[in-house]
Amino acid sequence: MSKSTQNRRQFISSTGKAGMVLAAMPLMAKITPISSITSMTILTAANEYIQQPLSYGYAALEPYIDAATMEIHYTKHAATYAKNLADAALAEKLDTQTTSLTDLLKNISRYSPKMRNNAGGHYNHEMFWLLMKPAPATAPTSELADAINKNFGSLDNFKTSFGDAAKARFGSGWAWLIVKADNSLAVCSTPNQDNPLMDIAETKGTPILGLDVWEHAYYLKYQNKRPDYINAWWNLVNWEFVQKKYAEAITKK
Ligand code: MN
Repeated sequence: MSKSTQNRRQFISSTGKAGMVLAAMPLMAKITPISSITSMTILTAANEYIQQPLSYGYAALEPYIDAATMEIHYTKHAATYAKNLADAALAEKLDTQTTSLTDLLKNISRYSPKMRNNAGGHYNHEMFWLLMKPAPATAPTSELADAINKNFGSLDNFKTSFGDAAKARFGSGWAWLIVKADNSLAVCSTPNQDNPLMDIAETKGTPILGLDVWEHAYYLKYQNKRPDYINAWWNLVNWEFVQKKYAEAITKK
């Protein structure tokens, strides 16, 4: 066994995400030939810039999000952001092995509009796939439930506020639940593929929940009825994931 093969095997066996890493390899191969990957560090650091496999099938979120929308959204729209991000990184000499995606977003004003659109697009979609799942728990528990009650009065009030932000976003963009610098929660929205991590964002914070309100996310099934899509989407929110993001956000400071 060659040294690089051995390193790769050790890496794969030492992570709980072996399946994801293996499944990601054909995509990674387009950007970095596998034969040139010789250390654990390189493989890990480059990973977050690469589109990860979905953890469920395209039809898994039916009837709330239809299979055709999921397939086009994942394989065309989101895949293109990841590809264009790799191109922009190369053109602008961004070292994706030493700069985390989060740090890139926090300094995005230093880069081109192409980097801004595609780094945001890639980050936002990778999070979006993970914050949904088929048949999730219907409400948050533990610290997140307490924080939502404290900041918004109730879960229903929070959903109304978030839904209003999603409906009011003119054109394309996202609605967000964020953890602000003082650890309070807030709802906000951003245009295009911006997000609240970016230094150019009007309201800054760590996103823990986000809803894609670009027409490509819902038009096949809902056409002009964005409010129906927003209401249906609550049936997919993976509150365990949001709780995990919340816990990470408040302990990082
Ligand atoms: Mn999208």
